[in-house]
Amino acid sequence: MGPAPTAARAQCPYCGVGCGLELRPPAASAAEPVWVARGDRHHPSSLGQVCVKGATVGATLHGGRLTTPLWRADRREPLRPVSWDEAMERLVDGIRSTLASRGSDGLAMYGSGQFLSEDYYLAQKLFKGFLGCNHFDANSRLCMSAAVSGYSHSLGADGPPCCYDDLDLADVVVLIGTNTAECHPVLWQRLLKRRRRDPGACRLIVIDPRRTATAAAADLHLALQPGTDLALLLGLGHQLLRHGAVDRAFVAAHTHGAEAWTALAEEWSVARSAAVCGVAEADLLAAAAAWAQGQRVLSAWSMGVNQSSEGSATVSGIINLHLLTGQIGRPGAGPFSLTGQPNAMGGREAGGLAQLLPGYRAIAEPQHRAELEAHWGLAPGAIDPKPGRSVWEQVLAMERGELGLWWVAATNPLVSLPWLDRVRQAVERCPLVVLSEAYAGTETEAVAHLVLPAAQWSEKTGVMTNSERRVTLCPAFRTPPGEARADWAILADLGRRLGFTDAFAYSEGPAGAAAIHAEFVAITAGRPCDMTGLSHGLLAAHGPQQWPFPAGTAPGGGSARLYTDHRFATPDGRARFWADAPGGAAEPPCDDYPLVLTVGRYLGHWHTMTRTGRVERLRHEHPEALLEVHPGDAIAAGLCDGGWAQVCSRRATITARVLITDGIRPGTVFLPMHWGASQPNPCEANRLMHDLCCPRSRQPELKGAAVRLAPTLR
Ligand code: SF4
Repeated sequence: MGPAPTAARAQCPYCGVGCGLELRPPAASAAEPVWVARGDRHHPSSLGQVCVKGATVGATLHGGRLTTPLWRADRREPLRPVSWDEAMERLVDGIRSTLASRGSDGLAMYGSGQFLSEDYYLAQKLFKGFLGCNHFDANSRLCMSAAVSGYSHSLGADGPPCCYDDLDLADVVVLIGTNTAECHPVLWQRLLKRRRRDPGACRLIVIDPRRTATAAAADLHLALQPGTDLALLLGLGHQLLRHGAVDRAFVAAHTHGAEAWTALAEEWSVARSAAVCGVAEADLLAAAAAWAQGQRVLSAWSMGVNQSSEGSATVSGIINLHLLTGQIGRPGAGPFSLTGQPNAMGGREAGGLAQLLPGYRAIAEPQHRAELEAHWGLAPGAIDPKPGRSVWEQVLAMERGELGLWWVAATNPLVSLPWLDRVRQAVERCPLVVLSEAYAGTETEAVAHLVLPAAQWSEKTGVMTNSERRVTLCPAFRTPPGEARADWAILADLGRRLGFTDAFAYSEGPAGAAAIHAEFVAITAGRPCDMTGLSHGLLAAHGPQQWPFPAGTAPGGGSARLYTDHRFATPDGRARFWADAPGGAAEPPCDDYPLVLTVGRYLGHWHTMTRTGRVERLRHEHPEALLEVHPGDAIAAGLCDGGWAQVCSRRATITARVLITDGIRPGTVFLPMHWGASQPNPCEANRLMHDLCCPRSRQPELKGAAVRLAPTLR
């Protein structure tokens, strides 16, 4: 019998707020080994606050787990248990035979914002470095890649420049495309508390097609037509120019491109913008007046902006307004992307998207490739100069029969990708699908040949970075079930079996994780995300720290904000205005499909419910997906409240229970995206969605598809 488990501290493994949790072990007499979670008062990002998901995470850790590797040669057969040796040899054989027959373009991996940074870093080292294969992408592609692209495009580097304290300091907060109350609840509670404490000191403007819980609490709600965010931002910009709200000294000294953007904004009168967006002119004028009068303007956004075919341009559109008014790089002000997943930020730092390399580097940059080749001891030219395939490009490659091996880790793309029927058919063409996963029975397991049981958060050691660039050490405080292993340990084992013995000689345990972390942070030296002063030891001793945190930084001495000197990460230090004309939704409504379906999330559920679907309390709070329909649209379609509707798009038809509400604008309907085919009451919203992506960020437009409704019996 081992030593009794002790209490632990870690970052919550759900959303990108990244709250601190204190975990207490189950009592020896407990019927089930449920760890009890509560908010960690010592965590600077959350100060002891926690939402229902974080508070119930202990109940999700032990049940329904994969405990042994599984294999089948044919998807028509059941998966059967095999040893780790057999599983790894099958993986090695699959990689070698694919490389021999199709080259490195025949391989692809699809990882996750649930990865620890150590998992991410080692996947980049193995794939992009030692296998010469850049086709590693992560589910951040569906979530934050427009923010990555927009920040890089406008400011010269990725990285949110703000911090959570700014919510307490701003006098105007603009929330655009974010249902913060349900998706980032602890930040939302902080903002509400501030508004209660200091009534009238902080105006709240919400821009969202639905009257969400967030919008209901706003001083001003602009319920715009989905897909018109960029037009609305230009209308706001037009009016800021009229107001004389331009910080001319800032624009002249610290930016480029204002003339072209001004010329575009001049074309977007408030009347034109209001008409395109379907909002009242008076509301647009009021929003612009609030911004113009604000001393400290903070904007925040998430999927409603990012999941768009013009997501990157919209992010730059938000940043344009901050540059115009000098509202950046100072307390209470700035453009703040609220990250979806717990460690999507760490993934960006570690190079975990198909166009990136570790340390906020780009594959397309020869100098960046050379730096990683030297760091990894590879020959010059070992890293392919061509950026890898995004996840949708991986799907298309499978559809064309070009992939010999697709490895999915810690994510469930057979629920979360758009146009799921097409995805399923494409994946079925891939001769070897590998899944590393913690939980049994996911929709993606149904198409896998080889399943590797993964240790998850709480069972492996590593770091995560939250939305305000704060890095938290998450220690292993539970024993993994059965034979489950950390993702980074699986990657290291694979590297050694492929013959890269010295480069992947990490021990399996906390010391190995610390060594990987040390190797990773060393390559961030001099980069915008410099973390060379961080180590597992420092984080364990002094708690979470914000980057930049170069070597020699004292604990607590990381930067709360970026660009406080107004020198941006571009070659000349100036930020850039971008003049992108709005294109609107990629699939607008038409006579056959007259409504726009938008998708989103419920407070109590997380992504595809692999965790939260196991918590009785959360299932009880959100028993099924509800199709929100405006009363006028319900009458037109012959629907009744609580009845059933067929929802048809050009790609599929699904059935959903109807909720008639005037909280959604006419012409728009809403579904949550959580319920996959394996749920007792499935409602696969993403079967309906199209595949059109933002050309700059390659992020799919998951927020809008044209649909029609009809009444049905279930
Ligand atoms: S707000 Fe996000 S990070 Fe915080 S407890 Fe809830 S799910 Fe976890």
